[in-house]
Amino acid sequence: MNQAIEGKTGRYWHVLDDGRIQCDVCPRYCKLHDGQRGLCFVRARQGKQMVLTTYGRSSGFCIDPIEKKPLNHFLPGTPVLSFGTAGCNLTCKFCQNWDISKARDLDRIQDVASAEMIAEAASRSGCRSVAFTYNDPVIFLEYAIDVAQACRQRGIKTVAVSAGYISPEPRIEFFRHMDAANIDLKGFTDGFYKNLCSGKLAPVLETLTYLKRETKVWFEITTLLIPGENDSAVEIEAQSAWILENLGPDVPLHFTAFHPDWKLMDRPPTPPQTLRTARRIAVNAGLRYVYTGNIHDPTGQATHCHVCGSVLIGRDWYDITAWNLSMEGRCAECGTPCHGVFEAKAGCWGRRRQPLTLRAFESEPLAL
Ligand code: SF4
Repeated sequence: MNQAIEGKTGRYWHVLDDGRIQCDVCPRYCKLHDGQRGLCFVRARQGKQMVLTTYGRSSGFCIDPIEKKPLNHFLPGTPVLSFGTAGCNLTCKFCQNWDISKARDLDRIQDVASAEMIAEAASRSGCRSVAFTYNDPVIFLEYAIDVAQACRQRGIKTVAVSAGYISPEPRIEFFRHMDAANIDLKGFTDGFYKNLCSGKLAPVLETLTYLKRETKVWFEITTLLIPGENDSAVEIEAQSAWILENLGPDVPLHFTAFHPDWKLMDRPPTPPQTLRTARRIAVNAGLRYVYTGNIHDPTGQATHCHVCGSVLIGRDWYDITAWNLSMEGRCAECGTPCHGVFEAKAGCWGRRRQPLTLRAFESEPLAL
């Protein structure tokens, strides 16, 4: 027997001729009978409607450096209030946050937090932005959008850390409320998405081109390189060429190191040299801002001027070690603009990671 499902009314669904309800949030288009949950587990059919069962509940809050999202060209050095909920609409065998994305016990996301509380907490703790991260905000878009609206009222920016696996109509609404995004481009073949994520590549590429052509959202791309799966020179060349042709040379690209996790325990961690080689391939292809991540590599983590080669922003892990941008975000040596969202100087949050309890910021009862 199905347990009673509680949640906030969700958007983007319709009733099919056979009486089932189809969720239209992501390209899975789950078709549900009453009481059933979608693949993401957190969107469910309750009678004649779809509900979001995690609205107003989080798996925890933490203040991180913005570089950890990773975003290297968006308010560098500033703190970001990060949180997630539970569930995911992809099934990546290598998930590095599987305890959250695969959570089936929703009692574990007990941190009750209204949109107002989150925005207030970000403001009072000195965060410049709030990040929807740890699991994909696409599946909790109603909650994320309400938080984003509360943040904008206080001058706080919002960041979506997402795989970009979202349908065209909700994509428009979702990104209208975001200031920045990091999109996980998990690999560059259909086989990778099919075999390791049970998804498809095309919708992710559509999200990337949509962001570039139709929005002002600042976005960067992350690819986790898994030995033997998506790290061949041919694949990285193809991905770099596609980015250059469709998004231009100025979208930052992060190659990050895999470590064995979840259902992919039989692969070794990514050798640092693989990340450096991938970076060199992408730079040679014409991309201007390419980074290595999850390894200690100050050269691969620095932002260089693409004209004179000077270090514009130096980094040691998440610490900013050099800042050579003018007030207008130009190279201090040759005056070439560096693309991104910059202020006159970098923040000084450093590499700290500070868990946060939201109860102190409660200003009103949470209405579900
Ligand atoms: S958001 Fe969830 S319920 Fe909706 S189509 Fe995607 S996986 Fe299915």
